[in-house]
Amino acid sequence: MANKLQVELVTPEGRVFSEEADFVLAPGVEGDLGVLPQHIALLTPLRTGVVTIRNEEAEHVLAVSGGFLEVLPDKVTILADAAERAEDIDEARAEEARKKAQELLAQNVGNEEAVMALERATLRLQVAEIRRRRHGHSPPPQ
Ligand code: ATP
Repeated sequence: MANKLQVELVTPEGRVFSEEADFVLAPGVEGDLGVLPQHIALLTPLRTGVVTIRNEEAEHVLAVSGGFLEVLPDKVTILADAAERAEDIDEARAEEARKKAQELLAQNVGNEEAVMALERATLRLQVAEIRRRRHGHSPPPQ
């Protein structure tokens, strides 16, 4: 019986992650979902949030903006609208996107889209921060 999960994370722009893992934590719409090998099969929509993938070598943290999670006993597939590994996040860009979304919201413009853009930007900043804390990096200059 397989005691590993093959994890695939795919966006419309391509494959962001493909590795064997021991554990996946993902933000399901009904709550966070922890998946170990031999989990029962399920399919659920995802919230915009942090995905953590753990194996013997490392713990990977990714920002995932919506999509679906499919679980099979030996495989986890995430189809996301957008996703970035923590190390690939451009913080200046996320900060810019956060400011722009906040400005639009303050002016009551494009509210629904601006709320989602704000969620994505805030998540990216949060994931970059998690990575920095882990690596003991100091915060970027203001
Ligand atoms: P922006 O306004 O900065 O484009 P966005 O939230 O509108 O942000 P998305 O439409 O979610 O961007 O993503 C478009 C593409 O850009 C995706 O491939 C996504 O992974 C990538 N991306 C968006 N923001 C960042 C970021 N801060 N760092 C790295 N990649 C990013």
